[in-house]
Amino acid sequence: MTLSFGRPFLAIPGPSVMPDRVLAVMHRPGPNIYEGELVEMMPDLIEGLRGVARTRHDVAIYIANGHGVWEAALANVLSEGDKVLSLCTGRFGHGWNEIAEALGIEVQVEEFGMRAPVDPDRVEAALRADKDHKIRAVLMTHVDTSTSILNDVAAVRAAIDAVQHPALIMADCIASMGCDRFEMDAWGVDVALAASQKGLMVPPGVGFVFFNDKAIAARARLGRVSRYWDWTDRANPEVFYQYFAGTAPTHHLYGLKEALTMIHEEGGMEAVWNRHAHLARAVWAAFETWSQDGPLELNVANPAHRSCAVTSIRIGAPHGTMLRRWTEEKTGVTLGIGLGMDSEEDPNADGFFRLGHMGHLNAPMVMGALSSIQSGLIALDIPHGDGALDAAARVIAEA
Ligand SMILES: *Cc1c(COP(=O)(O)O)cnc(C)c1O
Repeated sequence: MTLSFGRPFLAIPGPSVMPDRVLAVMHRPGPNIYEGELVEMMPDLIEGLRGVARTRHDVAIYIANGHGVWEAALANVLSEGDKVLSLCTGRFGHGWNEIAEALGIEVQVEEFGMRAPVDPDRVEAALRADKDHKIRAVLMTHVDTSTSILNDVAAVRAAIDAVQHPALIMADCIASMGCDRFEMDAWGVDVALAASQKGLMVPPGVGFVFFNDKAIAARARLGRVSRYWDWTDRANPEVFYQYFAGTAPTHHLYGLKEALTMIHEEGGMEAVWNRHAHLARAVWAAFETWSQDGPLELNVANPAHRSCAVTSIRIGAPHGTMLRRWTEEKTGVTLGIGLGMDSEEDPNADGFFRLGHMGHLNAPMVMGALSSIQSGLIALDIPHGDGALDAAARVIAEA
């Protein structure tokens, strides 16, 4: 039998759960794209996005997923033959490198593996060795969604400044924005990337590139920029269609406006970050308890280096895939695959799974996902420590 009838729960690290309120505002006839409500709501929407990224600088909005804004960001500050230093802590760091290489950019990879965060000392050493300042930008993922590693962006900024290197710092915040604390201006980030379908609670299809004055100066150096990716008019349009270099993503904008209203109603970013941090601690308490016996293990050992948006778990092949299939079929909870964790011994990454805990999420959703995992561990006879749900409930009780 199955106990999955009822509301399904997509507990993967993006696309995340879409609030009914977001879906409801999108259920409407198409608006006029030349004047009226849609055009008039843009300044508030931009202001709301600035608040989420903690910046007073510009933002360009693209009808694109994360891969799109990866390319958009690079295309505005780099051209063929330029060099970047890329700090990799998982699959997504390498994904951005692939986009850069396809644009003819030379990528120097600093690899930190799948279980440890970026080490700022190594960044400093790599930049110190770049005596003639060939490296034009440092690319990093704030949270790599494959490994669930949280990187210290401000510490990388400090490493760049320590050697007085002129490179831009460009941060992929696609998984983290709206979940893990991120302060673009205070941390000295030049370019930050986000997408609609993770912490921002909107369906996939819209991406954001935030950029400061130093990034604008880098843009000015380029002889030629793709007309479509160029952020100049998008961020400061004279007429509405320039925001999107064509027709606006009308319904996504209504959804985004509602999501930003929800963030505001919750009490702004501090409240949203606190909720994520608290729920993440409940998730970790459960996984740490399960890991006391049997094969289950958190991918990131040190809580200080764990994201509040997603948790990557090692459980040994084939337990990861079996557990995912069990929770989906029997309880209606869909867990994330072990993305980028494949190896020769485990070519399909069957020994991994991920739990997304980003965006529109509250205590019963987290407890529901955790109790489904608990049931799966029991049903599949996977050895595990006792008391995980109690441990999570105790963290919830501290709220
Ligand atoms: C999801 C994600 C991406 C890719 O986004 P797509 O919308 O799937 O193209 C890139 N980077 C990070 C950190 C992500 O979490």
